[in-house]
Amino acid sequence: MADSQAHRRVAQWLAETESWVAFTGAGISTESGIPDFRSPGGIWSRSQPVMFDDFLARADARREYWRQKCEAHGDFARAEPNDGHRVLARWEETGRLLGVITQNIDGLHQAAGSSRVLELHGTARQIACLGCDARFDPDPLVERFQADGVVPDCPECGGLLKHATVSFGQALPPDVLQEAVEWGRRCDVMLAMGSSLVVEPAASLPQVARQEGARLVIINRDPTGQDASADEVIHASIGATLVGIDRCLREARCD
Ligand code: ZN
Repeated sequence: MADSQAHRRVAQWLAETESWVAFTGAGISTESGIPDFRSPGGIWSRSQPVMFDDFLARADARREYWRQKCEAHGDFARAEPNDGHRVLARWEETGRLLGVITQNIDGLHQAAGSSRVLELHGTARQIACLGCDARFDPDPLVERFQADGVVPDCPECGGLLKHATVSFGQALPPDVLQEAVEWGRRCDVMLAMGSSLVVEPAASLPQVARQEGARLVIINRDPTGQDASADEVIHASIGATLVGIDRCLREARCD
């Protein structure tokens, strides 16, 4: 089978190198039942996202933001990590996966056991105060908003509360981005999974790795913007593919 040959090739590259980096996008989480927000039927096909400046400026925008976030909250709260998340967590334990750079905000890599995770877009598993940066568990705040429709304020300083995610119109955290570039430079193999690799920084991180001599492996259901420059492209389920590669790696053979 073509796939098992590809699994064997990738496993071979992993076996002969010491530092790997995973880059993940929405595709790894759709396999856990989290809808891709941008896909048809996703939240952005029904609602206009609230821009960060509007959130700061207007109470009605903050209310709409909280309404949308509470709608998405159930998907996150119910989701469990899948085989793909679990294989990456095991690879971190071996000391050879430097970590996971992710565009996802669902926290499923950590739930699977990964501890070195760079969240480019922040996390929906926390609420942050824009005034004092205090962090809160989202569950009680979401429940309260759903009950009374009142946008909550920070209990410590009265500041604005928002999910600890990067909103539309808000800059990516520069320290996280810088570390991601650093990992890209250091790795021997970059596995880019579940991202169409067209928006920044997803578009340039794999290229940073390649320019420093790393192999680029792309695993995605659909073609991506960078298939042409990858050393291996696998259009298949991420979970099943990582399980296949992991088996080859452990058995040092695959057939
Ligand atoms: Zn505060």
